[in-house]
Formats: sequence, structure tokens, C-alpha cells
Amino acid sequence: MNYKRFLVAIIILIIIIGGMYFIGDNNQNNVTSIPETTDNIENNNNSEIKKTDGSEFLMNTLVRLRIHDEQPQAILEETFNKLRYLENKLSKTITESDVSNINKNAGNKAVEVSDDTYKLLKEAYQFAEKTNGAFDPTIGPLVSLWGIGTEEQKVPSESEIQSALKKVNYKKLELKDNNKVFLQEKGMSIDLGAIAKGYAADFVLKYFNEKDVESAFINMGGNVSVHRDKIDNTLWSIGIQDPDQTRGNIIAAIDGEDMSVVTSGNYERYFTQDGVRYHHIINPETGYPARKGVISSTVISNNSSYADALSTSFYILGVEKSFEIAKSMEDINIVLVTKNDKVYVSEELKDRIRLTTDKLEIIYR
Ligand code: AMP
Ligand code: MG
Repeated sequence: MNYKRFLVAIIILIIIIGGMYFIGDNNQNNVTSIPETTDNIENNNNSEIKKTDGSEFLMNTLVRLRIHDEQPQAILEETFNKLRYLENKLSKTITESDVSNINKNAGNKAVEVSDDTYKLLKEAYQFAEKTNGAFDPTIGPLVSLWGIGTEEQKVPSESEIQSALKKVNYKKLELKDNNKVFLQEKGMSIDLGAIAKGYAADFVLKYFNEKDVESAFINMGGNVSVHRDKIDNTLWSIGIQDPDQTRGNIIAAIDGEDMSVVTSGNYERYFTQDGVRYHHIINPETGYPARKGVISSTVISNNSSYADALSTSFYILGVEKSFEIAKSMEDINIVLVTKNDKVYVSEELKDRIRLTTDKLEIIYR
């Protein structure tokens, strides 16, 4: 009996010591490498700063965070709270969200939304104007019809596409006073999938600034944002995923601090039928997945929602129009991979981009 008790005590002790080691390791001031970055632990003398990593499935994607701060766990938890708050406002599948509320009342009445939803819709509207409707926050009916990434995905009939197209037009989205929003026709619907993650990243980055967080990294699927530089005072290095997996994992890395690197690609959500790839970025002019020769579109900017909206837009608009828009704006740099193995890069990125493949011809613009 005594021997058994002794054995149990030893096992409990082992578990406690193991747990302490785990907690201790979590709070250590070490910087380990994560896939998108190359970390360097030299020069890292600040013993107050600790690191925490966390992940959660939010906004239709796996959100991964790394926080370096005196109290990283508290920052991490509050960050996820903020993201949950935004998801509850912006999701079109959550029935009580602002977006669902607008959609349910399309053609019927204006509904009042939160400040954040209103601000994001204003921004989305401006991008619709800037891109001449290539980016359209009222894309909902077409996204639902194609159902890419859902069990209902299919190539719709021509007449289905034509009738959905009639319900897509940002000019029929009214943003009235007092946060009131109205879709003019029944059957219209808002879909913020192309900009909401960027908006969420900006929201979180603002919070990191307020809290004076030492250094942080957010990855929301194809949207990566970094707060300040790395803990060892070197630049972050963010990889751009290879749109054609046969080439390897990344095609290039971008160095920088306080930046967002947002990629839209035809490899993210798609299905193939009769040898044709049908992906999730829809051209509102045709009603079909965009086909202007771009297979991956990346925007690098300080502003994550701009980067998000524009990376989707540039995918649709093709190389020429995209560079025209990017050059007309401040702090918008781009990397566009085309299906004929070329990569078009803003010349402002010359010193910050490293191509990691020799299969692509690089052209600076
Ligand atoms: P992203 O991954 O940021 O390029 O956004 C793609 C998502 O945006 C899609 O899954 C749709 O929800 C939505 N979307 C598709 N086409 C458009 C479009 N032309 N304008 C605005 N949003 C779109
Ligand atoms: Mg986008």
C-alpha cells in the first residue's frame, strides 16, 4: 500500500515539475523561428520582455499571433477578444451580425450598424470607386451562387450568373447619416471577405500601439502584419507563398517593420472542373472568377485594410491597371505573379525583396 502511495506521489511530482518547466519555457525570453520569419536571438538583452504565441480560428481563417511584451498573455487574450468582437459584427454567416442585418433588410429598410462596420463599409465603398467596381462589397449574390470552398460549389448556369450580376452594384449601397445602411434591392448582399481581415489587423495594430507592445506578428491566412521590428531590432522577413506548390514554399521574402503584407491567390479556395480552376475572386464585370493573367497578388503597405482591398482588386484588374493605381497612391507597393512565370514588382521594393526561386523572371515597374 505504502509503496503504491509513494509511486503515486512520485508521478504527481513529475507532472508538477513537467508543468513548471513548460510554463517556464513559455515565459522565457527566447525567440524561436516561425515559418514566415527568420529570427535572430543575438542582441536580445531585454529580460523584461517575454514572448507568447497563440492561435484561434476566426474570420474564416486560422489566426496566429506572436506577442513580445512585458505582459504578453494579457495582450494576446485582449487581441483575440477584439477579433471576436469584429467577427461578430462583420461575418455574413453569423445571423445577428451587422452585415447579416443589412442583408436581411435589403430592399426593405435601412439598419443602424456599429461605428466599426460603418467605417469599414465607407472604406470599402471608396475602394469600389477607386477600382471602378472591380472591388465590390456587394459581391454577395455571386459569392453565394458559386459557393467556392463550400459543399455547394458548382459552375452556375449562364442565366443564374446573369441574374446574380443584376444584384451586384456598390452604387446601390447607401451609407446614410447616423450609421444607417441600406441596400436598395431585395436579394442584394454585402460580403466583406476581401477587406475585413485587413481591417481587423489595423484594429489590432492600433491596440498594440496604444499598449506600447514591444514587438508583434499577426498572421490571418494570407494577411500578415508586423508591429515594429523584431525583438532583436532586426527587420521582419515575410514570405510570399508560391501560388504553384510544385515550385516550393515561398517565391520571395519582403523585409520590413510596421507593415502588412497581404496576398490574394487563386490557390486559396478553388475547385477544378474539366481542367479549369474556378477560384474565389470574382470579376463583377463578368460574374466569373477573375482571369487577367495574375495568379498571385501581394500588396505591401502600412495600412492593412488598404493592402487587403487592393490585393484582391489587383488580382482582378491585371498588371497594367494595378500599377497605375498603386503608383497613384502613397505607400502601396506590389508583387504580382502572372501565369507566364513573370513577377512584376514595385521598384520601391528593390532593396527589400529577395526572390527565392529562379523560375520567375522579375520585372521592376
Ligand atoms: P481575398 O482573399 O482578400 O482576396 O478576398 C477574397 C474574398 O473576397 C472572396 O472569398 C469573397 O468573399 C470576396 N470577393 C470575391 N470577389 C470579390 C470582389 N470582386 N470584390 C470584393 N470582394 C470579393
Ligand atoms: Mg483582400
